[in-house]
Amino acid sequence: MSASVTSQKPREVVRARPPFSKYKELVTTIGRLVLGNIQHKNLVNRKEAEARRNKIARGEADAVVIACSDARLPVLDSDKTAVFVRVAGNVVSYKAVEKALSMLKKDGLVVVLGHCACGAVKEHNSWVAKGKGSTGVACMDKLLNAVKGASPEENVKEQVALLKEKHPSLAVVGAVYDWNSGKIKEVAGTPSALWEDLKAAWVRYHLTHTNPEELKSQTPHSIAIVPLDLPFSPHRIFSAGQNQIFTVSCEGKIGDCAMASILYAVEHLNTKHIILLAGESALLDQWEEQLRGLEVVITKALYKEDGGVELIRCVE
Ligand SMILES: [Zn+2]
Repeated sequence: MSASVTSQKPREVVRARPPFSKYKELVTTIGRLVLGNIQHKNLVNRKEAEARRNKIARGEADAVVIACSDARLPVLDSDKTAVFVRVAGNVVSYKAVEKALSMLKKDGLVVVLGHCACGAVKEHNSWVAKGKGSTGVACMDKLLNAVKGASPEENVKEQVALLKEKHPSLAVVGAVYDWNSGKIKEVAGTPSALWEDLKAAWVRYHLTHTNPEELKSQTPHSIAIVPLDLPFSPHRIFSAGQNQIFTVSCEGKIGDCAMASILYAVEHLNTKHIILLAGESALLDQWEEQLRGLEVVITKALYKEDGGVELIRCVE
């Protein structure tokens, strides 16, 4: 090796790293995710995970939950199999919704779950107040247009109406979660026994995990991008607490509303770490390619059937 090459190499490595302060924080974040995953892997019931995967693959999921990406929404700790579509503002026009509906059993339930103090609704309101002009970012325009109504309740009602217009025979419940009171209030649709079961699981999570004081602002350390057919939420896969992971669901390619959700978390929540989590490395590569140019650190995590993840690359 020549002297010039050896003297150049370390400089390139240093340049490729994020600033040290960010790097240190990132090491902690990844360490927490890795340790959390070991915990999950030890606790996960493989038969349950397999049963969930099979039900989703056969199109027999009990529920489809269209929920906001906000990290503060409670985890569903229920024996029911739900397919989650997580996107900012829980908008039903997001393309992954239709794919998720194809995974739902015939008499299954669709839940549209919003929450108090939704950032997407706030952004929508200021966009309306400014005259609905273009933000200059096409995917953001699409998301702001897809959010409807001036409050989380109104938005959920409108989203349920849009879904029912397109799929009149679907059983849909629209609800809004308030972390101050722990209440999940129905604002649209007809509650059923299955709904009560799901609601009880959310309330259970709230009672055991939620400290409203900690949820006054959104502070996720990571954005997780996940496919629809993951058997558990990233919160469970990484044993991560409420408010730690902002979640965006994708069917194949990252769609416009998903990309806008990611940009929102990067810019408004200052979340600079993205974990790509999927069972196929080709999908991880595709997402990584789509996120090229974004000022974030990306970790790819290949999800295994035993509940463990293999981190493919940690630091860009
Ligand atoms: Zn929200």
